[in-house]
Amino acid sequence: MANFDRETTEAALEQRLEELRRTRAAMRRESDGGASGEVAHLDNHPADEGTETHERELEVTTEVFLEEEERRIGEARRALADGTYGTCIGCGAQIPSARLAAVPEAVRCLDCQRHFEGLHSQHHSLRPES
Ligand SMILES: [Zn+2]
Repeated sequence: MANFDRETTEAALEQRLEELRRTRAAMRRESDGGASGEVAHLDNHPADEGTETHERELEVTTEVFLEEEERRIGEARRALADGTYGTCIGCGAQIPSARLAAVPEAVRCLDCQRHFEGLHSQHHSLRPES
């Protein structure tokens, strides 16, 4: 059961959580005003109309993503406290230490994660295609 180092993992999760909170706080400050137009450089299309809507959608998507990430980190910390950390919650296999080092909040092995994300993104792309 030594596929991770508890102290390193705790520190890594703590740090990621801290980064997330900073990013979210910064995003909130930006959307309160003072948006300097820098964001517009991300989009090469010279579309004058709809740009604002696009930016807002992008912001919401990021916000949702960050919330999701925060929840995952919380899940990993709980698993760490419960002593189930390092074991895939999907299939019960040990998660490779290299994966845990790269993604400390991982609670699934790569196969289960791919499967999970596949289901997940299908739910989110249920919009009319025509
Ligand atoms: Zn698995």
